Amino acid sequence: MFKKNITELAQALQAKNISSLELTQLYLGRIKEFNPTLNAVITLCEETAIKQAKAADTLLSKGNTHPLLGIPLLHKDIFCTKDIKTTCASKMLDNFIAPYNASVVEKLNDCGMVTLGKVNMDEFAMGSSNETSYYGAVKNPWDLQKVPGGSSGGSAAAVAARLAPVATGTDTGGSIRQPASLCGITGLKPTYGRVSRWGMIAFASSLDQAGPMTQNANDAALLLNAMMGSDEKDSTSLILPEEDVCRKLTDSIQGLKIGIPKQFTIEGLDADIEKSIQDAIKVYEKLGATITEVDLPYLDLSIPAYYVIAPAECSSNLSRFDGVRFGYRCENPIDLQDMYKRSRSEAFGAEVKNRILIGTYALSAGYYDAYYIKAQKIRQLIKHNFDDAFKQVDVLLSPSSPTTAFGLGEKTNDPVAMYLSDIYTIGANLAGVPAMSIPCGFSKGLPVGLQLIAPALKEAELLNYAHQYQLQTDWHLKIPEQFS
Ligand code: GLN
Repeated sequence: MFKKNITELAQALQAKNISSLELTQLYLGRIKEFNPTLNAVITLCEETAIKQAKAADTLLSKGNTHPLLGIPLLHKDIFCTKDIKTTCASKMLDNFIAPYNASVVEKLNDCGMVTLGKVNMDEFAMGSSNETSYYGAVKNPWDLQKVPGGSSGGSAAAVAARLAPVATGTDTGGSIRQPASLCGITGLKPTYGRVSRWGMIAFASSLDQAGPMTQNANDAALLLNAMMGSDEKDSTSLILPEEDVCRKLTDSIQGLKIGIPKQFTIEGLDADIEKSIQDAIKVYEKLGATITEVDLPYLDLSIPAYYVIAPAECSSNLSRFDGVRFGYRCENPIDLQDMYKRSRSEAFGAEVKNRILIGTYALSAGYYDAYYIKAQKIRQLIKHNFDDAFKQVDVLLSPSSPTTAFGLGEKTNDPVAMYLSDIYTIGANLAGVPAMSIPCGFSKGLPVGLQLIAPALKEAELLNYAHQYQLQTDWHLKIPEQFS
């Protein structure tokens, strides 16, 4: 049963082959068995899960046929959950219990989904390896010596090892797609503004977006349908007509125009990754797609622009954690300054402090124009590059990550190498467009991910391209042996 995707699970629930309570207990059991090895789940919500599952069973018995009713899931610990701890994997919020649910959590609860627990992540979503978590690193289910990627590494590892059939994630610069790639699952970052950010702890507000992390594109479409929608509590949420992003899944992709960004042919790309991408291109060609090279001349500047904008926004967002309003407070402060200083010094980890320092510097008088404004201008140019590219092609294709899963500790002392993990993904965040990672092969036993980037609001199309590929391939069906 745990090998099934959520469409199959919904069928089993509807046919009364299994109850939501039994399904929930099955996954709770898997978490208890395997989580000590993976460290993916940091808060188990057994009581809530059982209560929600029983409520789902009552609705199922009354003939409710919502496709997500009674399906268990895990939430990244960045989403506020009422009466359940929300830590953002930081000592700062180790004792924080939100008085309300994030809009995403609320919407999924309303569909009758069952919250199994909260998953590990990089502290405040800053990282690409899940090693910055206060609760320790997550292990990659394909090789326990490797990282799962980050920052949604707990979500990716949990879905890959089937500790839950699906999970939520967030993506500021690649945090859904890069871990999805490293763990061999499907991840989608929606168009900026599609999914409400209300109750999702902010890292870089103009980039953060929540999205589904699943076994396949079909599941991602089902979950996105439930997660998205305008929200008056989030002023950046887009006001759009109701939409069903599943509606195009089965459309033919004959005549699809795929663009390969010239800037994405980086030197030193692993030969196996290159080969998997070439093989994926052949699959698309067989399905009737044409391939052209496209030029996005400013894309090379996406990492430097991101590492000014994201830290600047982070320094502003994280100023609320001052020892007064939320979370940790140091012991016996001598005065107010001392309390601010020591609370923040004692409770934030090294990477978070790095970002706050860089961001505060970039925003300070005299540097604001030279760094922050300049980075914003570059961001605009990158966005225009994407607009131009999408005049020529329907979708852009690339690897999701320049490497497969790397060793635990391998890049922790080399921030630049770590930051380069997101070289393929950051552009889509800066431009605000939707992008996906889907499994497309293996290199030395580790999954390889393929990235597809579409124009703003074209999630239904993007999911169609991914689904059509998955109908031809079985990479997304593979489960790491130890967990199958
Ligand atoms: N790895 C990137 C960073 O550390 C992206 C993180 C994210 O998308 N949340 O900023």
